[in-house]
Amino acid sequence: MSSTLRFQIVGEAFNKRAVEVPNRKDRPSEFFAKYVFTRQKMAKYLPANIYKKMCDVIDEGAVLDMATADAVAAGMKKWAMELGVTHCTHWFQPLTEGTAEKHDGFVEHDGKGGMVEEFTGKQLVQQEPDASSFPSGGIRSTFEARGYSAWDPTSPVFVIGDTLMIPTIFISYTGEALDYKAPLKKSLKAVDKAATAVARYFYPDVKKVISNLGWEQEYFLVDEGLYAARPDLLMTGRTLLGHDSAKNQQMDDHYFGSIPMRVAAFMKDLEIQALELGIPCKTRHNEVAPNQFELAPIFEETNLAIDHNMLIMSLMKKVARKHGFRCLLHEKPFAGINGSGKHCNWSLATDTGVLLHGPGKTPLDNLRFVTFIVESLMGVYRHNGLLKASIISATNVHRLGAAEAPPAIVSSFLGKELSSLLEHLETSTDDELISLSAKQTLSLDIPQIPELMQDNTDRNRTSPFAFTGNRFEFRAVGSQQNCAAAMIVLNTAMAEALTDFKMRVDKLIADGIEPTKAILRTIREDIKTCKPIRFDGNGYSEAWKQEAARRGLDVETSAPIILDQYLVPDTIEMFSRMNVLTKAELEARNEIKLDTYTKKVQIEARIFGDICMNHIIPVATRYQTQLIDNVSKMKTIFPADQADELNRPNLNLIQQMGKHNAFIIENVERLIEARRVANRIKDEREKAIAYHDTVAPLIEAIRYHADHLELIVDDELWPLPKYREMLFFH
Ligand code: ADP
Ligand code: MG
Repeated sequence: MSSTLRFQIVGEAFNKRAVEVPNRKDRPSEFFAKYVFTRQKMAKYLPANIYKKMCDVIDEGAVLDMATADAVAAGMKKWAMELGVTHCTHWFQPLTEGTAEKHDGFVEHDGKGGMVEEFTGKQLVQQEPDASSFPSGGIRSTFEARGYSAWDPTSPVFVIGDTLMIPTIFISYTGEALDYKAPLKKSLKAVDKAATAVARYFYPDVKKVISNLGWEQEYFLVDEGLYAARPDLLMTGRTLLGHDSAKNQQMDDHYFGSIPMRVAAFMKDLEIQALELGIPCKTRHNEVAPNQFELAPIFEETNLAIDHNMLIMSLMKKVARKHGFRCLLHEKPFAGINGSGKHCNWSLATDTGVLLHGPGKTPLDNLRFVTFIVESLMGVYRHNGLLKASIISATNVHRLGAAEAPPAIVSSFLGKELSSLLEHLETSTDDELISLSAKQTLSLDIPQIPELMQDNTDRNRTSPFAFTGNRFEFRAVGSQQNCAAAMIVLNTAMAEALTDFKMRVDKLIADGIEPTKAILRTIREDIKTCKPIRFDGNGYSEAWKQEAARRGLDVETSAPIILDQYLVPDTIEMFSRMNVLTKAELEARNEIKLDTYTKKVQIEARIFGDICMNHIIPVATRYQTQLIDNVSKMKTIFPADQADELNRPNLNLIQQMGKHNAFIIENVERLIEARRVANRIKDEREKAIAYHDTVAPLIEAIRYHADHLELIVDDELWPLPKYREMLFFH
């Protein structure tokens, strides 16, 4: 790119006006879920008996027979065709992080030389996409390429453009999960079963426990023209070089600031489209870094919330382009300023409307509250390493551990009130706590939690797993990740903890201990066991890293080694006991994650080497030559000693540039060689470790020198849009 072109692009970006957003007269409540086959639409488009059967399938997990599927498909087809739909696709979440779809037209031969629109129950329920191009971690070799996608009736179908989108799971010919949704649904079933059993100690009427998820999606916007001029952004989603701009986030003036017009237009457009797809968008605001924003819906049942998150990520990218932006979902698109995460607010609730992670009004409610809090901590404590593995990636590592996001150690913040409640429970005796009132109902000496909670405004931003009043907020999830990976671990770990809890309580009861005492005794034991996971201090501090190691928490920082957690005995045992993932499936997942890690670093290293050699060095050398030219010409017009004096600063610059250039050229060679060596390694784990240990650090080391050249070289020559140009809209 010539420098004139660079200025043209930057200039255009600054002059762009907001795209018109249709000013709708109808209200969100009127167009919400317009493109979703909701229950109301089922009731309208399906015969009454079929509608009832579908409700049983969705609510009670009843089996869907083919006759019902055919009838449902007929109703769906009618609804969809009224919206101009001509195609359908199974929509699934392969382990590559995005979503996948293969469209089929509704058309069929009518047997008389013409065509009819057809959509059958079979097409709705099952498809056999060629699975060979999706990562399977060796579960299915390429010659046995068949995989099945099967409809998930608990997530409603929806329409995008001319296509009916059918949420599905994706499994191999032999039944192993090749996606996120299949194990997610199993983990939700496991936690439902275990939590229902425990909830019944307190509320005998409970039939079902639901896992809730409210995600908060952070993202950056950059102008499309500037994006196109950055090969690194284009290829990897982040800037591999670029010096800090003089002003970035140090003034704290962006967070919750007024939203720039161009961005506000984008947000409005996005929200309208999301609401039409049934995504209950609620919150939007500027985030901490310049050009960083957040969008959050109202929480939903976890399976649906995850589908909605996957959907909104693709919607954001699409709508951004309409507005002349690119939406960056990478966890760390720019060095030196905050990266993007996806806080996952998680809680359990019963079908009778009790929020299990929320404090209640009666002593019994409060005992239930404490039980579910402590068992959540038990799950997170036992599997803290695995929870970290579920969110580690080549991209999220740049965000974790920097002084902006939770460190690469999973711990839990409870706040003062809840912590002191647990301390109180830990040390008190049964009799101290329980006294029977006249009415023979239990009264527990647990402080009035609801009131305390309302005052409990202390928030710890450094904690990866923080209690926030009626839910836990898992903050380590990366902005572009499928939150299913974390939700699978969290819900399964919770299911395991509750199962173990119930076994011990039941044993005490069988031994003649009164139920409330049995529960309290077991909780007390668990409060002691999981104590190391509780940490309310500064998670960014160096002291915490050492303290966490002393407590036996997982403090590993190397991504490929963190991934070992998928295969440790505790993990394998938990997943097989809870019937969520088999050992073979875990091995496959681990291999895919390692392979993805390697490929991401590999691509970064290649494009980075190219930029250094084709963009930076030529420009730096050209500018250096200009300086040299100047130095020698100075000698022609000034006497020697005066020229020497005047030339000193430029000679200094020439020398500095020489050093930077030399470092870059030499180390790009080394980078290429390190890649070559790593590529020869056959074992996926060893290869990923080589990329982590030898390739990734070289990128960082070289970047330092390239970024210093940016400070020296004539701005007019510099080939890439700079941070200050990309990061501020006017
Ligand atoms: P912040 O953490 O930024 O203060 P909010 O209070 O807006 O965020 O809430 C963030 C998300 O948490 C929203 O999606 C909200 O619906 C969700 N949320 C609130 N209560 C619960 C709950 N009990 N379980 C799960 N998610 C919840
Ligand atoms: Mg939050």
